[in-house]
Amino acid sequence: MSNFDFFVPPHIRSMGRYVPGKTVRQAEAESGVRSIKLASNENPFGPSPLAVEAIQRAATEMNWYPDADSAELRAAIAERHGVPADYVLLAAGSSSLLHMMARMMLAPGLNAVTSECSFISYPLVTQAAGATLVKVPMRDYGYDLDGILAAIDENTRLVFFANPNNPTGSFAPVAEVERFLDRVPKHVMVVLDEAYSDFAEVFAAERGVEYSRGIEHVREGRNVIVLRTFSKAQGLAGLRLGYGVAHPDLIQYLVRVKVVFSVSAIAEAAGLAAIRDVEHIEKTLRNNVAGAKYLAEKLTEMGLNVLPTWANFVYVEVGEDCIAVAKRLQSEGVIIRPLAGWGAKSAIRVTIGKSEENEQFVAAMKKVVSAAVR
Ligand SMILES: *Cc1c(COP(=O)(O)O)cnc(C)c1O
Repeated sequence: MSNFDFFVPPHIRSMGRYVPGKTVRQAEAESGVRSIKLASNENPFGPSPLAVEAIQRAATEMNWYPDADSAELRAAIAERHGVPADYVLLAAGSSSLLHMMARMMLAPGLNAVTSECSFISYPLVTQAAGATLVKVPMRDYGYDLDGILAAIDENTRLVFFANPNNPTGSFAPVAEVERFLDRVPKHVMVVLDEAYSDFAEVFAAERGVEYSRGIEHVREGRNVIVLRTFSKAQGLAGLRLGYGVAHPDLIQYLVRVKVVFSVSAIAEAAGLAAIRDVEHIEKTLRNNVAGAKYLAEKLTEMGLNVLPTWANFVYVEVGEDCIAVAKRLQSEGVIIRPLAGWGAKSAIRVTIGKSEENEQFVAAMKKVVSAAVR
């Protein structure tokens, strides 16, 4: 047999890989009990029913290649954000855009900067491009923007900035983001990853603040790309659809590294239906606000530390080995995400589910967490 190591450059050989949350089927096979999944920040109400209809309609046309530019969906998204269509690029999930940004802008000898305890795709896309990821320690469980500025050097090309952050759920206010962007050197591009924008907008309105001026920063001609996804509030994580908003000069380079036809005709049709399904999104957002409040209340009552969330999940300090807690929760039929892999050995991330799912999670926590005040 061939020695495959020989063919693979060292930066790929040394890469870690993405470890996904357990699927319901895997967890049930292991534990033998019926399970709910609160592990990957998916929409508990499923996909938009309008998107499902659109998928069924589009299915009969699968002999044709899709429109490579997803022009119709691109136009609809551009209109929504008040930008010309050439500011928008669709891709197979925002993870795919992260890869494209890294492949386009990074190389051996260059680096990207982000926060510790942030999205797990950032190290992967950086390493795949042969570059180095610098992780700056958190401040108050969120991005330390001054620390990130201090970590930028002449070889930095990208900053990955998730706002809200996954997995801590933290949020950087508009004024801080602006102050940060004003000071980022000209040779650095900021990737504003706004995967949880729909949820954050609701929390921001409730808390009397503005969520983000990301798109305006793009319009002003700053070195910013805004990433959005259909995986979270729109409930289309399995479909793989996301987009970037950036200056057309940047977009036209991104198009060159994009895999042609990677956005399927099904995805485009579903995306068009999903953005128009106001009812489904509003139901999702209402449930999320109520669920966030419920979980914070119940877990705090149990003596656990829950961070305030701006997204569709909560970060909980459980005061003991999170992997052990995850295993015990799994045997109670609840799948959550232990955060040891993020460097948070005693923390878990729990997706906000439907009210009955949140109740089941709280009941299971009362049984399995020793730190809980019972
Ligand atoms: C979920 C998530 C995404 C979305 O990834 P997709 O590839 O679009 O499914 C991007 N960034 C962060 C921070 C996320 O949590």
